[in-house]
Amino acid sequence: MQTRVMEVDPLEDCRKVYKEAAAILEEGGLVAIPTETVYGLGADALNTEAVANVFAVKARPSFDPLICHFPNGKAIKDYTDVPEELQPLVDKLAKEFWPGPMTLVLPRKPIIPDIVTSGLPTVACRVPSHEVMRGVARALGRPIAAPSANRFGHISPTSAGAVMKELGGSIPLILDAGACSEGLESTILMPCLDEKGKPAVRLLREGPITREKLRGICRVLKPGKGKTAADEALPNAPGQLKSHYAPCKPLILWNPKEEFTPEDGVAYGLITYEGDSPLAAQDCWVETMPLSPGSGRLAEAAVRLFAVMRAMDENEEVQVIIAEELPEMGLGCAMMDRLRRAAAKRGE
Ligand code: AMP
Ligand code: MG
Repeated sequence: MQTRVMEVDPLEDCRKVYKEAAAILEEGGLVAIPTETVYGLGADALNTEAVANVFAVKARPSFDPLICHFPNGKAIKDYTDVPEELQPLVDKLAKEFWPGPMTLVLPRKPIIPDIVTSGLPTVACRVPSHEVMRGVARALGRPIAAPSANRFGHISPTSAGAVMKELGGSIPLILDAGACSEGLESTILMPCLDEKGKPAVRLLREGPITREKLRGICRVLKPGKGKTAADEALPNAPGQLKSHYAPCKPLILWNPKEEFTPEDGVAYGLITYEGDSPLAAQDCWVETMPLSPGSGRLAEAAVRLFAVMRAMDENEEVQVIIAEELPEMGLGCAMMDRLRRAAAKRGE
């Protein structure tokens, strides 16, 4: 199959492009669509065959449920049944963080097919801030189920070029709106009741909406804590496999305060946080790439993380990637989560 790339500038009138993408989805086809987090591989969420094809193209295991993307918060009400006691919290979170990089796991209506949720009684919902994903969902008139547009377990794509390398030849269309502005997958939250019966959220995946941002709004519980109506049937965070977001080469996490001792005959590439890391002063690297080239900014590092991992992976001189540990605060928590998974051995 030939993969077409269509450039799209959300500042211009893109209705024609949205219609064309929606027509492919309507027929059960797949389209790679940008969001502010990463590029998604989109399918009509109500078309079971199209969704099955997402799993096939990505080689994603069927027990890993997909996130549905909606053009606005109102549209979500037709697909979910939020218990009365959690509705005020859901409304508050939606008002604060949508459109944006937050996914809420909510009890689903039967209209959402089992294949989207891996049979779970809940569905993961998001209203992205990226105009293009919302525009295509609006043109389709149904939610778009979209995991990241990469082969399962690989590094998530933050540009159309990265999607092409991952899935070129397997999908008909990539919409190219340039680089993603967040660069990290959405924060996933499941509204629940805490032990006192007060509304709270379980943090199922760290992301751009940090604990700090959530703190003023409600309690943030660990996966498995608190109670939801759907609990009996619900594993805590399906799909949160230990090994994920992984480059093809081995990646080792390193504390910047410790000296690194290279093994003879191995070519190492170093990913540092800042431009002037103490690790970079050692002379054993065939390549060094900082996540935040200046004085170290977590937001800049987040935007660049997957692109830098990908560049290291593609550098033929590098055999093993050493990644400096990042400060675990704010966005650093989500980045360390991704780096730990990238460092975990395959199959875990
Ligand atoms: P992604 O790989 O970015 O598409 O994100 C999908 C992830 O969302 C899955 O791996 C799950 O961890 C999470 N997720 C999706 N649906 C549900 C659900 N119904 N319950 C809990 N987690 C979910
Ligand atoms: Mg993914």
